[in-house]
Amino acid sequence: MRRAPDEAMTEKRLPELRDVQRDDEGRALLLSMTFPELKRWVQDDLGEKPFRAKQLWKWLYIRMVSDFDEMTDLSKSVRAKLKDAARIDVLTLEDVYTSADGTRKLTWTTLAGATIESVLIPTEDRNTLCISSQVGCAMNCQFCLTARMGLRGQLTTAEIVNQVVGTRRLYEEEQHLSNIVFMGMGEPFHNPDNVIPATRILIHRDGLNFSKRKVTVSTSGLVPEIERFGAESEAQLAVSLNATTDEVRDWIMPINRRYNLDRLLGALRSYPYRKHERVTFEYVMLDGVNDSDDDLCRLVRIASSIPCKVNLIPFNPHPGTEFRPTPMPRVREFRERLQGKHIHATIRVTRGDDEMAACGQLGKPGPKQPKRMRPPESFVEAVRAEDTP
Ligand code: SF4
Repeated sequence: MRRAPDEAMTEKRLPELRDVQRDDEGRALLLSMTFPELKRWVQDDLGEKPFRAKQLWKWLYIRMVSDFDEMTDLSKSVRAKLKDAARIDVLTLEDVYTSADGTRKLTWTTLAGATIESVLIPTEDRNTLCISSQVGCAMNCQFCLTARMGLRGQLTTAEIVNQVVGTRRLYEEEQHLSNIVFMGMGEPFHNPDNVIPATRILIHRDGLNFSKRKVTVSTSGLVPEIERFGAESEAQLAVSLNATTDEVRDWIMPINRRYNLDRLLGALRSYPYRKHERVTFEYVMLDGVNDSDDDLCRLVRIASSIPCKVNLIPFNPHPGTEFRPTPMPRVREFRERLQGKHIHATIRVTRGDDEMAACGQLGKPGPKQPKRMRPPESFVEAVRAEDTP
């Protein structure tokens, strides 16, 4: 008999079963549970045989129903028990904004009334959904609009998984979702207790069945959680690098003051890569800030010492930003010179910027915003535009 990945996993540690997440009325959030957690809940809380967990899992993730009455192979009495004890959806779709290039920004309301965003990016060979892990973000990366919201809340596992299930229900027939990236609002590793189980749910073979190579979690560099992720999740790791010196990274990504480049790169050197696995370094290119020849030399040195690929990201400006994008010929030169050193390097195509759905453009900052970081003296000249409050 084929075992489910959660049960068959040998090289990755199985995390503890977590407490059941519930709504305000005490109903269990089914989309929050990994398969072993659902099995335990079915037995202990619902008082049903374990095989019911498999039936439920299929209704949730293969047929993707939103109503217990559609679960036709369950008896009326089991469905009634489920209605009392559990809920499926925890997000309500608010709006869909479609860009000229076909990118769709979906906005959802959580049970607590917060607005979060996911972005569906169709390309010729794949359809990628970029999902959020928090409401806002505490990391205060200086080039990112979400940072200006500050952190307003953590998403539950169900709210993370519901973005995927909800989008699949809407678009699966025309655009089969193939890739998931945790690159929407929030720092995923600031919410690891919900993000790591969500990756296990997405990858489960008997359910949503995303390839573990096509689910990617991106971090700004929280070192202890990188280590935990390496031990507990089979999804891919991406790191927003964006600078090659502590001086610049301390400025544009304040998390570097806690985990500097030495510690971050050390964690990536000892990361438990599987065969053919590599970390993706994301590098948002900021004119006059991180795109010098010296940066390029240091980036080559970093990338040569770690199994990785480098994704160069043209900066997407947003209102109030003090940064400017590196001109495209220079971005292409970076790629070519990296490739010349046998480093796998790509340029991310900007998508959805007319609907503020591009990378770093998600969220709506309010009047109260986190403090802006002062650039180091040597970079004051590079910051051309006036900062806005
Ligand atoms: S880039 Fe990511 S980690 Fe940094 S502030 Fe924005 S959402 Fe947070």
